[in-house]
Amino acid sequence: MSETPVTVETISENIIGNLLHSMIQDIVSREIVKQKQLQARYPDMKPYHYDPNGLLDFNGLPKQQESSQYFHCQNCNREISANRFAAHLQRCLNRGSRR
Ligand SMILES: [Zn+2]
Repeated sequence: MSETPVTVETISENIIGNLLHSMIQDIVSREIVKQKQLQARYPDMKPYHYDPNGLLDFNGLPKQQESSQYFHCQNCNREISANRFAAHLQRCLNRGSRR
């Protein structure tokens, strides 16, 4: 042992350090096995794109504004902006059931 005195604090720090160390080792080895299995099953799989600025999606393509996408509401046959679609659908279906 080193020169530092053995106290309850140093012993508990050692125990928690060992526990965390073995948990991290366990997680890392599981992930490595998972990655190897995926690599063996899908050899030409390319990893997801990571953009720290959040401007590109996971395919590396520029993100589309939600407001530029439209969904067709089958209840009222109108084109509804994607970012308002959930709210529209709730109102639209309620309106339909009241009739
Ligand atoms: Zn509708």
